[in-house]
Formats: sequence, C-alpha cells, structure tokens
Amino acid sequence: MNETMNGAVLTRYNNIEWQQVPVPEIKDTEVLIRVGFAGICGSDQHIFSGEFHPRTTTPMIPGHEFAGTIVETGKNVRNYKTGDRVAVDPIIPCGKCAACEIKHYPACTSLKLLGVDMDGGFAEYVAADESMLYKLGPEISDRHGALVEVLSIGFHAVNRAGLKKDDTVAIYGSGRIGHCIAQAARTKTDNTIYMVDILPNRLDIAQKAYDNIVTINSRDIDPVAFIHEQTGGRGVDVAFEAVGHAHPVENRIHPVRGCVQSIRGAGLVCTLGLSDEPAPLNMKEFIWKEARIVSSRVSHGEFAETIHHMSLGHLKPDTLVTGEFFAGKAQEAFEILDKDPQNNLKILLKLT
Ligand SMILES: [Zn+2]
Ligand SMILES: [Zn+2]
Repeated sequence: MNETMNGAVLTRYNNIEWQQVPVPEIKDTEVLIRVGFAGICGSDQHIFSGEFHPRTTTPMIPGHEFAGTIVETGKNVRNYKTGDRVAVDPIIPCGKCAACEIKHYPACTSLKLLGVDMDGGFAEYVAADESMLYKLGPEISDRHGALVEVLSIGFHAVNRAGLKKDDTVAIYGSGRIGHCIAQAARTKTDNTIYMVDILPNRLDIAQKAYDNIVTINSRDIDPVAFIHEQTGGRGVDVAFEAVGHAHPVENRIHPVRGCVQSIRGAGLVCTLGLSDEPAPLNMKEFIWKEARIVSSRVSHGEFAETIHHMSLGHLKPDTLVTGEFFAGKAQEAFEILDKDPQNNLKILLKLT
C-alpha cells in the first residue's frame, strides 16, 4: 500500500484543494476502502463555508456519501474481504446516551459522522469500521452506491411516517431530500404525490421522473388550497417538510404550517428540514385534526432497504445527479452548487 494518496482537503473554509496526504491507517475492526464515487451533501456545503465550525475544523477531508472497493482488512474483520464493494453508513452513535440505550441511534445526543467529525470519503482511500459497511452487488455501480446514503434518508422518513399502500402524499421541498422522499414513497404507495417548491427546474425533474406526481410551484399557486381542491377537500394522508431554510414566499404560509394544513384529519406530518428559525404552528389547526408530527434526521439501518430497492431497479438514482466532477475539481463543484441551486441537485465526485 502506498503511504500517500490524493484527497480533497478543506484547507480552510471555502477552499478545498487536491493534495497528497497520508493513507489512513486501519484499526483491527476496520477496512480500507478505495473510493469510487462520493456525493456532495447539503451538510458538506455548510462544512465548506464554515457554518459547522467549531464542530468541524480545518484541515479536514469531508465526504459521508460514498462507495468503493475494500483493499485491506483489519485482523478482526469477519464478514468482509478484499475486493468486496461496499457503501458505508457514516453514522457513529455514542452507545451511551438515553437514545442509544433504547437503540434509537439517529437521536444520539453526540452522534458523529464519518466525513464530518473525522476525515471522510473525498479521498482515494478511507477507513471505516466493519459495522458500517453494506455490500453492493455487481448490479449496483459505485456511482449509484454513492447515492445509497442520501436515498436511505428518504426511506427513513417514509418509515418514520409509517407510509402505507394507497396513502396520498405531499412533499414540501423538491431538493435532494425531497426527491429521495419521493423515490422512497413510490416504493410504498402508488397514490398521488404532490410536490411543492419555488424552483421550476427542480419540479420539472420530478415531473419527468416519477409516476403519478403533481408538481406545484408555490409562487404561482397556493399549495394548501390546490391540494384540498384536488383531494375533494380531504387533504393528503402524510405531508413531508423538506424545505429547511425556508425563503418566505409572498402570500404563503410557512411550509411546516402548510404541511399541517395539507393533511386530512388524523393525518401525519414528518419534518426533515433543518432550520434555525422557529416554525409558526397554529395549535388549533393542529389539534382539531388530532394530527401527529414526527421528525426524521438521518437513517437507521435503511441502507439495506435502499440497496434492496436499488438492486431491483425500483429507484431512479440518476435523477438525483445533475453533475459529475473529478474530485480534484471539488472546489469548482462546491462553487457551482452554491451559485446555482436552481439547476443542481446532487453533484458526484469521481475518485478513481
Ligand atoms: Zn448528507
Ligand atoms: Zn448516543
């Protein structure tokens, strides 16, 4: 094994450089992975700009969405061997907090992520514990394997929501997470999915990619009124909020409240958008429906379910990808994502 490798190193915030760095040393329960592809996540954009400071410091190698081939195994690794192709669940729960005690790992109070709290997959090689690995069959490319993590967030959300066959769905936000929810939801219900956003290009991507989807540009149309009109006044069974940092839209209510207003009596809202701003809720609207709100943060073992559906061709991973760059050009990729959210969902970095 070479002692050095190339990696996209965030040398200081807003500056990522292709540099020679040491190959990570593996512990006895870890494997060394030759990364094929890695995806740039919204959190990577926050890390890039320094918004995660002091949780992140520089220099660091980001990247928590990736897939590749095992090239070395630690001496206590049992279930994987050199040559196995894997996707890596980046979540590292503390194992000790109250949430971990009941094995509810996404809610771990000191949850760490490979590629956020330690060096990750925007490099030729990365080390990962055996417990974080999921095997990829030959029918799943590294390119698609790098999208398992983000798609598993969609599966976790629909599982948190208990989405059932024939449920109608509203998804506020047609960014990466909104698309992943739509793809996961499509494996559970054939009924109508309403997707709401203000960026027409993102809605177009959804309109073309998914069956039985109705896209709503909330700049032009009031989504709540439209959904009620379309459902005969009933509302949808489940609404997902995946907007996050909501830009106020004139004459429209906040998306979380929009979700509550969009569901039927006794319906459910699942929120994913991470916003620092409080979301205004009208408790009367909420309580009169005896509605439930659940939240969904990361994934919880949904890698297996995602890989299963990906192998069977039930997902549309390519729909998420709007760009592909050699990892040496990571700086350019980050700048494009920042400047042009309208025309970009996921950008993949190629490491081999
Ligand atoms: Zn991510
Ligand atoms: Zn914990």
